[in-house]
Amino acid sequence: MYQKKWGVMLLVLALVVVLALTGCQPAAEPEPGEHEVETKETDVVVIGGGGAGLAAAITAADNGAEVILLEKMPRLGGNTLISGCAYNAVDPERQSKQGIEDSIDLHFQHTYEGGDKKGDPELIRILVENALDGLHWLESLGCEFKDEVYTVLGALWPRSHTNVKPLGTGYIEALENGANERGVEIYLDTKAEELLQDEDGRVTGVKAVDADGNEIIFTARKGVVLATGGFAANVELRSQYDSRLTAEIPTTNHPGATGDGIVMAEKVGAEFVGMEYIQLLPTGDPETGSLAGWLAPGVDQMIYVNKEGKRFVAEDERRDVMTNALFEQTDALMYVVSDANSVWEVTSFGETEEQLVEMGKVLKADTLEELAEKINVPADALVETVARYNEAVENDHDPDFGKKLLGHKIETPPFYASPRVPTVHHTMGGVKIDTLARVISKDGNPIPGLYAAGEVTGGIHGTNRLGGNAIADIIVFGRIAGESAANSK
Ligand SMILES: Cc1cc2nc3c(=O)[nH]c(=O)nc-3n(C[C@H](O)[C@H](O)[C@H](O)COP(=O)(O)OP(=O)(O)OC[C@H]3O[C@@H](n4cnc5c(N)ncnc54)[C@H](O)[C@@H]3O)c2cc1C
Repeated sequence: MYQKKWGVMLLVLALVVVLALTGCQPAAEPEPGEHEVETKETDVVVIGGGGAGLAAAITAADNGAEVILLEKMPRLGGNTLISGCAYNAVDPERQSKQGIEDSIDLHFQHTYEGGDKKGDPELIRILVENALDGLHWLESLGCEFKDEVYTVLGALWPRSHTNVKPLGTGYIEALENGANERGVEIYLDTKAEELLQDEDGRVTGVKAVDADGNEIIFTARKGVVLATGGFAANVELRSQYDSRLTAEIPTTNHPGATGDGIVMAEKVGAEFVGMEYIQLLPTGDPETGSLAGWLAPGVDQMIYVNKEGKRFVAEDERRDVMTNALFEQTDALMYVVSDANSVWEVTSFGETEEQLVEMGKVLKADTLEELAEKINVPADALVETVARYNEAVENDHDPDFGKKLLGHKIETPPFYASPRVPTVHHTMGGVKIDTLARVISKDGNPIPGLYAAGEVTGGIHGTNRLGGNAIADIIVFGRIAGESAANSK
């Protein structure tokens, strides 16, 4: 027994001598509460599991890469999941059935001019030329689009496609399945905190933290794709760029839209474009800021009236023009007014007329006078406003505000009204990218190993993003970022 004890002691002594001679130290015992840092290695790390991140992950996998995707929330989707799902693309097959004339050049012109010519023409070209291919790619993953196209608010032209499934669920379901089928490893509740660089400045990985506070290092042999979305839900950041956007102004965005990618990219020297261009919509729910809770399907099927019962802007105008006009109205509040001919069977937010009326989100009445009483606006003013609007529809000319999309008169009872306020919706600015979705540094060169797509990027939409152009953007540039990262040397 003594022999065995001496044997063990000699072995420990020998080990200490060897360690001392080789200069190694035994690992220090972790302090209580300290965790070991886990490391994972792969080809491509994608940060963000919304539409852009999932499109990038799938495409990187299709280009032969092993892919890990990090999502800080408990589920995938981000803003893409709660979006109204409108997707703009010139689509001769669908549009010709509705007699709609369109072209890639017109989509380019709307996007470029609709953003006050502040968008990068090269990036816009890529967007409009690849939007339909992106839509077909989504269809190939099992995402179903309806046959009819329409003009989503602020789209300027009837080229908005909508999903069969409500909100963005159709996109995320198809993309999530596509990622799983390709073996993309998805880490939920895992927040990326820092981009790691080697001594040459190449981005080589990501430091992240899981829900229990454990640090994980994800090393990327080929590249990292930033797809963390925008910063509309970050009051501090957004109000730095637009002082009106205090905590009192609600947002349509999910709570994770806090601009983490902007902060991480800044630390590795990325250049930013258009950070001051922040989009508001005039159609927020007064309580939540959400876009849900109103009925009319298209801008040609409703009018906006203020608390005095009067129209104040063309309802087919740019989003910034409409919202700025709303800020000028009493209490910055308006009502969307429509009639029985303008009711979604189920809205793109999955609501029915019956539910919305029952919830009190939509007020319903058999006459305009009764509606006016319900929303507390002068009845004679509302009746006069609607009559004048109907005259404009009849003459196909709106002398008051110049609305062009004059589709339907408001004349068939029941009539509907829904109160709406300005709400922060989209951040057009972000990291600068080139046509290969490489992130550009302040010195004008690509940062090796770093790619970006989606709302975290800037420079595509200029001052004002057209309704329906963001989903097309995240799919088109998500795919490009995935391909570039997978093929990075
Ligand atoms: C209510 C609403 C309706 C909309 N409707 C339309 C529409 O009909 N048509 C249209 O074109 N556009 C629409 N938009 C805009 C469009 O949805 C977004 O611009 C687009 O979905 C952004 O996609 P994304 O992949 O860049 O970001 P997101 O879809 O927001 O995904 C980003 C993901 O990154 C995650 N993330 C963030 N930081 C980290 C981090 N540090 N670590 C790990 N993960 C992180 C987020 O949690 C999120 O899941 C709408 C937006 C909203 C809010």
